[in-house]
Amino acid sequence: MTNQSSVDVLVIGGGNAALCAALMAREAGCTVRLLESAPKIWRGGNSMHTRNLRCMHDEPQDVLVESYPEEEFWQDLLKVTGGQTNEEMARIAIRDSSSCRPWMKKHGVRFQPSLSGALHTARTNAFFMGGGKALINAYFRSAENLGIQIDYNATAFDIEVKEGVFVSATVSHLQNDGTTTTETIFAKSCVLACGGFESNMEKLKAAWGQNQWGEWTADNFLIRGTRFNQGTMIDRLKDQGADIIGDPTQAHMVAIDARAPLYDGGICTRIDCVSLGVVVNKFAKRFYDEGEDFWPKRYAIWGRLVALQPGQIAYSITDAKAVGRFMPPVFDGTKANTLEELADLIGLDRSTFMQTMDEYNNACRAGTFNHTVLDDCHTEGISPVKSHWAIPVNQAPFYAYPVKPGITFTYLGLKTDKTAAVHFSGQPSPNLFAAGEIMAGNVLGKGYTAGVGMTIGTAYGRIAGQQAAQFVLGASALNALDAGTAMPNTTSIEDTVSEEY
Ligand SMILES: Cc1cc2nc3c(=O)[nH]c(=O)nc-3n(C[C@H](O)[C@H](O)[C@H](O)COP(=O)(O)OP(=O)(O)OC[C@H]3O[C@@H](n4cnc5c(N)ncnc54)[C@H](O)[C@@H]3O)c2cc1C
Repeated sequence: MTNQSSVDVLVIGGGNAALCAALMAREAGCTVRLLESAPKIWRGGNSMHTRNLRCMHDEPQDVLVESYPEEEFWQDLLKVTGGQTNEEMARIAIRDSSSCRPWMKKHGVRFQPSLSGALHTARTNAFFMGGGKALINAYFRSAENLGIQIDYNATAFDIEVKEGVFVSATVSHLQNDGTTTTETIFAKSCVLACGGFESNMEKLKAAWGQNQWGEWTADNFLIRGTRFNQGTMIDRLKDQGADIIGDPTQAHMVAIDARAPLYDGGICTRIDCVSLGVVVNKFAKRFYDEGEDFWPKRYAIWGRLVALQPGQIAYSITDAKAVGRFMPPVFDGTKANTLEELADLIGLDRSTFMQTMDEYNNACRAGTFNHTVLDDCHTEGISPVKSHWAIPVNQAPFYAYPVKPGITFTYLGLKTDKTAAVHFSGQPSPNLFAAGEIMAGNVLGKGYTAGVGMTIGTAYGRIAGQQAAQFVLGASALNALDAGTAMPNTTSIEDTVSEEY
């Protein structure tokens, strides 16, 4: 039997974007219900794995040093996306990033200065004290205090939309005894913030297909974050005629430790020494410029680069000089006293490996090594070149880290606009909104710059929540919210809060 219920604003998802939307709608005075597919212990989606958000600022702001003006942020985004971005939507997210932190602090999020390591982010990125897990916990706490109804183990699997107008969502509730119950929830407006389809191996496999060696490329992918972003709502919305944006193979993909678990390895499985050495594939050949740009601007292309290699595996090779210059990964690298021994230990053809290493070492042109600037240490006469930080890998001990494509999130999603409204045949829905990964493809056609995922999710989560509330309450409520005078109506929601909380 399917139960039925209703609420002002239904938010589907339990990560950063969903929580931002739910809190905004609740602050405006709406009753809000939030559905999280995960059990409480795994709540928070990919957001719980994050560390920071990228913020524009014209002068030093609390934990952020110097300035990072709108234009520079925009140019960084333009560069990594190769122009595949909606400038209007991107600039809205960029501008929001300069003013969202007081609101985040109000809901319990705390910031700290950038940590040292390979990411030079003290100027551009505000770090969450306690990481994304603390951010998520703070938002959930605030949501509970404000009377938002939170359902864990609640997976939306169907949605009803009539002529672009959201009607209801149908949800499966997983019970403690393993059985499920089904509920159809009617709401005046709805925010979809339930991620991409990165957790769904079948969909990844279909998107990536077979390569020239007959391999199913996605078979060797690892999922850096949650297992709960299955892309179900993207499919259902597509079935209902929503406009879809993005290429299914475009994603934020990092080269991560090949020994990481299939899901939820998180940031500690990242291998951040690529620019300090060389990277070879399973045929012991280099395949890309390891020193093209600063690591924060390049780390997210390496997952794709490795995905396009045979066996979807590569090895990051460094020597003693790199030790202490990057954040050590959680698993030790393979260590050897000679490069020959290293080749044997990681199973690469010794003579090809030595040829690659000798060619590289001989091609390094002496300069002044400085990992904090785009230095003048580069190679000459080899392909691919190494543009910066090219110093010979010649000082024992030598290290190898095996890397595989680690998928962070996919970019295919729902076409939206600056109001976060989901589009149907080019027309914005009046009451269905999307935020976070599920619509990030509007801003990120491809590429990535560190911290922009949370920038997009925070900006459009807040906008979506505001718009959803505006549909329910009318513009006057929003004006009150802007003026800080809206009062959550905690008595009206009390009846709908489930026993669990
Ligand atoms: C290891 C790692 C590190 C990262 N570090 C950073 C960083 O430092 N800075 C940064 O900007 N970005 C970072 N990202 C990217 C960032 O996590 C995402 O851009 C951002 O969290 C997306 O937020 P979201 O709310 O859209 O999705 P999520 O946080 O993934 O939330 C989606 C939610 O929807 C739920 N859900 C899914 N399907 C359903 C359904 N059918 N019904 C109900 N609920 C559903 C999920 O359980 C989850 O709670 C990182 C990602 C990973 C994996």
